[in-house]
Amino acid sequence: MSKDMKIKEIAKRIKDIVGEEYVSDSIDVLLTYSVTASTGFDSYMPDLVVRPRTTEEVAEIVKLANEYKVPIIPRGGGTGLQAEALARRGGIIIDLTRMNEVLDLNEENLSVTVEAGITFGKLDKILMEKGLWFPIYPESSLSATVAGNVAVNGAGPGSALYGCTGEQVLGLKVVLPTGEIITTGSMANPNSPGHYLRYAFGPDLTGLFIGSLGAFGIITEVALKIYKRPEEFKYVTYGFEEAKGAMEFLRQLLLHNISVLHACIYEGDILAFFIDFLGEEYGIPQIEWPPYVVSLTIGGRKDIVEHDYELMESIVARIGGRNLDVPQFPKGEWTDRMRVYAKASYMHPYYWRILYHHAPIMRWDKAAKAIREVLDKHGLMGHTSGLMSGRSYNFYPHLYFEVEDEEAFEKVKEAHAELASKLLEIGCVPFKLAPYWVGELKKLKEYYGFLRRIKQFLDPNNIMNPGVFLED
Ligand SMILES: Cc1cc2nc3c(=O)[nH]c(=O)nc-3n(C[C@H](O)[C@H](O)[C@H](O)COP(=O)(O)OP(=O)(O)OC[C@H]3O[C@@H](n4cnc5c(N)ncnc54)[C@H](O)[C@@H]3O)c2cc1C
Repeated sequence: MSKDMKIKEIAKRIKDIVGEEYVSDSIDVLLTYSVTASTGFDSYMPDLVVRPRTTEEVAEIVKLANEYKVPIIPRGGGTGLQAEALARRGGIIIDLTRMNEVLDLNEENLSVTVEAGITFGKLDKILMEKGLWFPIYPESSLSATVAGNVAVNGAGPGSALYGCTGEQVLGLKVVLPTGEIITTGSMANPNSPGHYLRYAFGPDLTGLFIGSLGAFGIITEVALKIYKRPEEFKYVTYGFEEAKGAMEFLRQLLLHNISVLHACIYEGDILAFFIDFLGEEYGIPQIEWPPYVVSLTIGGRKDIVEHDYELMESIVARIGGRNLDVPQFPKGEWTDRMRVYAKASYMHPYYWRILYHHAPIMRWDKAAKAIREVLDKHGLMGHTSGLMSGRSYNFYPHLYFEVEDEEAFEKVKEAHAELASKLLEIGCVPFKLAPYWVGELKKLKEYYGFLRRIKQFLDPNNIMNPGVFLED
């Protein structure tokens, strides 16, 4: 059967599953789904887009895809920045954004179970009404879906204290590549009064799907830990003459268990660049920034925040930093956390590639130096932004290029590959696996081989987002 005939036949059968209006092969729809928010990557046309409403519909579609051996690519908000939710080999995009309800806001267990396609913004609004919150905010929260963020194991403001999103997941419902439906964590026992424990029934099956980029299964439900909303915040900006001081400060925050929600290290010159175009909006004065600046939000119970603030001031004084008296900066970062990154990334005329990675806190300087060296070597513009994420520093350096400049785009790709290699050499690890890490990952022979075997076992026909983090 020709590919066209096959797709027509599948489309007809999928219409029977989800209804005619939720399947499309019209060119305008396919074009829309041929890209994501990742500006610096190629686009790929899918053959079909389908928008299911239930887990059972997803399972039926996956079974069909298996029967016809056609690739399927789960997609949430399409906000991924590493070209993850794209139909590299054609096939069917499964858009999960119609599945966007809260299923169980469980105040007894302090967990919330949501459908895959709910956005962080919508979830936050619902939790806020009860004085509760999910404490991690990807800076794409108004469009990024919860399952999409679990699938990439994202992070964001809030991660300094609460780690990556994966660390807050209690359990999942997943449609396996064969179409079987499994529930992980304590809810694998159907008598459980909601999700309350991730590590139930042997090894951590939940973890298998966290960060798997939709290549191991389609997540249709996510259970997350929830907490009381903080009652008090404090915003502080500290300056350091040397990188060593800024890194040691973050380490001390961890050591003393300070209630830090969001902390970023900036190089003074990069900060001056950001403040130039965002400062006025947030009322941030452009001062003489020292070489290294830590902007910081602490938050939680009032008595703890007050205590932690005093402790933090004494730590800073001891290690030779100073309070710059610019609370407007972290306050702007925190209070506008769902939008500020989008503003900073799309308000200028450049395209860019991002190279997400985690560095050990005490190697922040080495990672920043590697980024700078590669940018300089290739004559590229870029920056070294990132945020503290538990015990690591989550870097998201950008490499810019002019939209029409083919030569610059080639240079960016080359620099990207070189940087990935350098970063692994100094002990960094990918934050979110992505196609551009594959070359480097292959050097970790046993690890890569093990991943491949898991993929082959789960997805023998290689239909789930093929090629996204493993070559076939
Ligand atoms: C302005 C902006 C700011 C951002 N800030 C952050 C940030 O602070 N932190 C951060 O981590 N990321 C950030 N990102 C990147 C991106 O938003 C996140 O990776 C986000 O979590 C992706 O979610 P999504 O729903 O858009 O997923 P998509 O982009 O649609 O998909 C991402 C990957 O997940 C897979 N996937 C999606 N849904 C499912 C599912 N239900 N089951 C299985 N696999 C699935 C896809 O196949 C794909 O591989 C930002 C992006 C933008 C544009």
